[in-house]
Amino acid sequence: MTEDMPLKRTNAFLCNFVMDPLLVINRTGKVIAFNKAFAEIVGSDESSLIDKDFREIEELSGFWPSVQHCLNTCEDIKDRLRIGEVEYEVTIHPATSIDGKEILSLLFYDVSHYLTVEKELVKRNRELMVINTLSGAFISSYDIDRVFNDLLEKVLMITDFSVGWIMLTDNSGLILKSHAGVSLNFLKQLSEGELDEFVWSILDAAEPLYILEKDQIKSFHHLKKEGIVFLGAIPLKVSNSISGMLFLASRSERVFDFDLASMMALVGNQISLIVEKIKLFEEARRLSITDDLTGLYNVRFFYRSLESELARARRYQDVFCLVIFDIDDFKVINDTYGHQIGDEILREVAEIILNSARKTDIVARYGGEEFVIILPRTSKKEALLLADRIREQVERTVFNKNDSVKINITISGGISGFPEDGKTAKDLLYTADMALYRAKGSGKKQVVCHSTETS
Ligand code: GH3
Ligand code: MG
Ligand code: MG
Repeated sequence: MTEDMPLKRTNAFLCNFVMDPLLVINRTGKVIAFNKAFAEIVGSDESSLIDKDFREIEELSGFWPSVQHCLNTCEDIKDRLRIGEVEYEVTIHPATSIDGKEILSLLFYDVSHYLTVEKELVKRNRELMVINTLSGAFISSYDIDRVFNDLLEKVLMITDFSVGWIMLTDNSGLILKSHAGVSLNFLKQLSEGELDEFVWSILDAAEPLYILEKDQIKSFHHLKKEGIVFLGAIPLKVSNSISGMLFLASRSERVFDFDLASMMALVGNQISLIVEKIKLFEEARRLSITDDLTGLYNVRFFYRSLESELARARRYQDVFCLVIFDIDDFKVINDTYGHQIGDEILREVAEIILNSARKTDIVARYGGEEFVIILPRTSKKEALLLADRIREQVERTVFNKNDSVKINITISGGISGFPEDGKTAKDLLYTADMALYRAKGSGKKQVVCHSTETS
């Protein structure tokens, strides 16, 4: 460096050894030096920048507090600054110039590319979090009937919504599987199907995402009354067909942007996958307790139910009855008309019994041509009335009616009652069987109640 070389030119010369944009200012914020790369990012030339006040460079306005902070602390500071489309990480470094003055250098490092990667990572992280949280709720739910509540709770947490409900379709229509944050009145409307028409219209529209904002909600009085100002309906797809809807709602306005839309879609996909698994699970469970031929409960489920009913009756000192039916001379039916017609008759008898029983009764196929019914909270007198009604109904029924050969059958039944005829499953089955044996012995086609005097 020669004596006459102006200091400013020396600084500018040195600056150009740095590839990234670099700016040097003094304590008061006056520009001392910069390199070409810096001039390019602020779109100025050398003549207009030198000696200019830092605060007057439009692109850097708002950055002065960071500079001041560096001046106060005399420590390196890193801060972010966006110029146009580019995001920079700016390192402000306090130094002393070659002529002994306090200066600050500002090095601009383009981090746009890293930001894109960072954003992508945040997105992926969030997706993983959603998948993990939701599948976790599914796996850790100890009770399959509670799984929808657990899932909805997690969905609301992830998406930051305060209101939500899940509805699934089945043969009988729409079923509300879980709800959160709704008023009692709204819950009643949901459960009683008052919103079904609205839900079906969304289901039929088959949009990937259905959004209602404040202005549109005005025309849906149920939603309006509930104070909902934002509603998102996400279809739940199982085996490529829509089999339900996840509703997320808010009583305060929400900005519906790309992020929210992609989050809702992601949540919807995950819930759909889980619903598919739940359906498979429920089908496996149904099959494991169902008799193949008649569709009634199988004997395994019957034993389990009998034990639960015993426990319930003991706890509440309640009564219940057990009925065993056996088709009369079924062997002859099989021998005369063939096994297939025999099967058909078994199916029809099962249907008659099931249709005559109450919802709370457990009807099962006990063995070949034997059926059992558990009648909770029923006296023997009431049980006899029901059993006789079933017996008469079977007698009246014409089987094989689509064929020229019409078939009539009869059945016999035995009844035992808790607690008088037995205090254990084994005893109750034994006494009901004894009563059935008596019915068979007294000419069949009748129902007999067990009684200690005659046994
Ligand atoms: P009873 O009036 O004494 O009950 O006479 P029954 O002929 O009904 O009694 P038994 O127990 O001797 O015969 C029951 C018959 O039920 C024998 C069997 O072939 C028939 N059976 C059992 N399971 C099935 C089934 O799944 N399908 C058909 N078609 N027949 C069955
Ligand atoms: Mg039998
Ligand atoms: Mg029989």
